[in-house]
Amino acid sequence: MSNPETLSLYDTLTRSYKEFPPQDSPARTNPDEPISYYTCGPTVYDSAHIGNFRAYIFEDQVVRALEYLGWKVKQVMNITDVDDKTIKGANPTGADNEPRILRERLDAYTAPYIEAFFADIDKLNIRRAAVYPRATRTIGAMVLLVGRLIEKGFAYRGEDGSWYFPIRQFPGYGWLSGLDLEQVSVGARVDSDEYDKLDARDFVLWKTRRPGEPSWDPTEYDAASPLPPGRPGWHLECSAMSGRHLGETLDMHSGGHDNIFPHHENEIAQSEAANGTTFVRHWLHCGYLLVENQKMSKSLGNFFTLQNLLDRGHEALAVRLLLLSTHYRKPLNFTFDGLRGAEANLKRLREFLRRLEREEASAPVAPDEELGLGGTGAGPLLSKLKDDFAAALRDDLNISKALAAVFELVGTLNRLLDGGGVRREEIAAARKTLLGFDEVLGLRLGENAGKATIEPAWVEERLAARQQARRERDFARADALRDELAAAGVVVEDTPEGPRWHVE
Ligand code: AMP
Ligand code: ZN
Repeated sequence: MSNPETLSLYDTLTRSYKEFPPQDSPARTNPDEPISYYTCGPTVYDSAHIGNFRAYIFEDQVVRALEYLGWKVKQVMNITDVDDKTIKGANPTGADNEPRILRERLDAYTAPYIEAFFADIDKLNIRRAAVYPRATRTIGAMVLLVGRLIEKGFAYRGEDGSWYFPIRQFPGYGWLSGLDLEQVSVGARVDSDEYDKLDARDFVLWKTRRPGEPSWDPTEYDAASPLPPGRPGWHLECSAMSGRHLGETLDMHSGGHDNIFPHHENEIAQSEAANGTTFVRHWLHCGYLLVENQKMSKSLGNFFTLQNLLDRGHEALAVRLLLLSTHYRKPLNFTFDGLRGAEANLKRLREFLRRLEREEASAPVAPDEELGLGGTGAGPLLSKLKDDFAAALRDDLNISKALAAVFELVGTLNRLLDGGGVRREEIAAARKTLLGFDEVLGLRLGENAGKATIEPAWVEERLAARQQARRERDFARADALRDELAAAGVVVEDTPEGPRWHVE
């Protein structure tokens, strides 16, 4: 596509639909320039649950939709491998120890969760981001960022040596989350990574070393750094990692709704105060995955990991379809009925593709003068559905409308095929259209369709027709039926007792 079309996307900061990519994005003027997209990644203190995967699948949809519409995207997703939760998990007793040993212990603790995260995203067919920076491997950028904040008067030292961000000094503080700064108690500070809006305070940028906690020596990265040995605050990590890999201004940044406050509010404050320029041109946030109307979360204990669902016999791609079928900004209540519904839809799509493959192999080829589409009206229908699908994506990623186009393709083509006379070119075009839609849905339809099980009744019907054709000495028809079966992977053996068949 030479001229990709823009989208209308909801922006959390301005609370309005905005054209995306924005006019001032380099991607608008230079076709080789990718959209810069930062996505907050997993905190690797435990296995991710499917609520987390709702956020990652939504972000994967954003990338896939932008690429489908012709844009290039550079996605960066961080791995939070040092924060309050990972430290607690790695060293629950907090016994004092060597900084190097504590860092190694932290690495050993997070390693299996990082591995599990990548295994899960592969099963869910979430495409890999361009880079997955790890906080513990980006400490230098964090030290330099606090250095710039100190220089510009946006950081101060507390009594214990930790450094804080004075939120009242940053004029835009609270804009993203709609926080009323009048309600904030002046001078109060917060050391923990997570806290809610009612507790808004000056937040920690760099925590001084505490017994039993892994720490880094800032002077190893900046000889003049006034920071004590210690570790970064969670919010600082994302400001530093996004800057390192995508520059000072990003086209887009996203996360789940719970990231808005304090995490993203604090990221804006740090990055804009340090760089003096806009941090993010467009903010996107997805709604929660709920269980019985409560947010799925580790702390409430109402969660399922992907493995929990696989152990119950469910399929990862059906979980993917379930999580993407609700508009990204709406809450989605997880139920097993919903999951079974997604399984039925996935089956329907696979069976449809299998039918197209089968019938394509046996359908008549149009005579030369009629080559091309139009025999049964499938051609114009396919163009309309492709337009509908792209228009749905451009309309704030309207997944309901996009899926409606997909299932209209299934319903209408099935009816046309039942009626007969659909040409091979039309079937091939329908198959390509469906696989094109699947570039965005990511259901691996192409990979699974050929391997799907063969319906015995369908085989028996063709075998009976072939026997009949032979009795009538219509060998051309008999051979065509045998080829059709072979194309579907069915091998026929003629025995004295009649034909026998098996799937290759
Ligand atoms: P965490 O590992 O807690 O930092 O979360 C990783 C991502 O998952 C963040 O973008 C969160 O906003 C998102 N997230 C966590 N719980 C849910 C949920 N129940 N529904 C949707 N997104 C969630
Ligand atoms: Zn983040």
